[in-house]
Amino acid sequence: MEVLKVHPRGYCYGVVDAITLAKKIARDPEVPRPIFILGQIVHNRHTVLELEEFGIKTLDGGLRIELLDQVPDGSTVIFTAHGISPAVKAKAEARGLRCYDATCPDVTKTHTLIKEKITEGFAIIYIGTKGHPEPEGAMGEAPPAKVALVTTIDDIDSLPFKSDEPIAIMTQTTLSQWDTQNIIEELLKKYPDAEVHNEICMATQLRQEAAVKIAEEVDMVVVVGDRRSNNSNRLVEVVEKISHKPSVRVESVDDLRREWFDGFQRIAVTAGSSTPSPITRAVIQQLEAWGKTYQEHP
Ligand code: SF4
Repeated sequence: MEVLKVHPRGYCYGVVDAITLAKKIARDPEVPRPIFILGQIVHNRHTVLELEEFGIKTLDGGLRIELLDQVPDGSTVIFTAHGISPAVKAKAEARGLRCYDATCPDVTKTHTLIKEKITEGFAIIYIGTKGHPEPEGAMGEAPPAKVALVTTIDDIDSLPFKSDEPIAIMTQTTLSQWDTQNIIEELLKKYPDAEVHNEICMATQLRQEAAVKIAEEVDMVVVVGDRRSNNSNRLVEVVEKISHKPSVRVESVDDLRREWFDGFQRIAVTAGSSTPSPITRAVIQQLEAWGKTYQEHP
């Protein structure tokens, strides 16, 4: 069995910058302690554990504005790569917390666009994942009556906007271009004059395109990524839906099952943009070791 490595895969620049910033903050003795991150800095528990070793505590499992209540006065808070709403930022600053913002520039670009469009009188339809921090942050840039979340085509019927209202449609950075295309086409039937802004970032798009391309040459694509990683889950989806090849997501080498690969000649491995390289490397090494055994004892 041959193991092909997909390029590009793994950490994107936004994630690398966010982790570098967090570690720099943790090394600075002038920064007030304790140090918290509002939500997982990226959706990967290995990265969260690594930052814990640096003395950074992750607050997780709710809206950012509520999580902020768990940060004691006089301490430090880091905002994640997913972006933060102005209301959360204002609340943290009003409490006098030391704030650091690790928002990815590609997410900031969407925030800026939403603010511009609201000023121009548009209502925003944001295509994104319910409960994910990126929509929470980005949609917080607009007054609640002027923004609505669409996750599936089923959400379109209940949208509150009139068909002749100025509408700007935008997307979360980590979605799949193929899925959002279907939703956008349906939205344009209801709002034919809407402006469409594809905000899927280059890192997400390149990883998806590479996975779909290599899937044509292999029997299965293994995606390494956390269960909560939106971009890792989308990689599995695009391989299955676009390439019609089986795909499986594993969080680490421990999730791999040898019997999944029985009878397969070629496997490709990729990783979400929040997956650390050593985790992916361990998966590749295990598959290569099994592949060698298969060659010796087919
Ligand atoms: S996936 Fe895209 S938007 Fe998210 S951190 Fe990486 S580059 Fe930024």
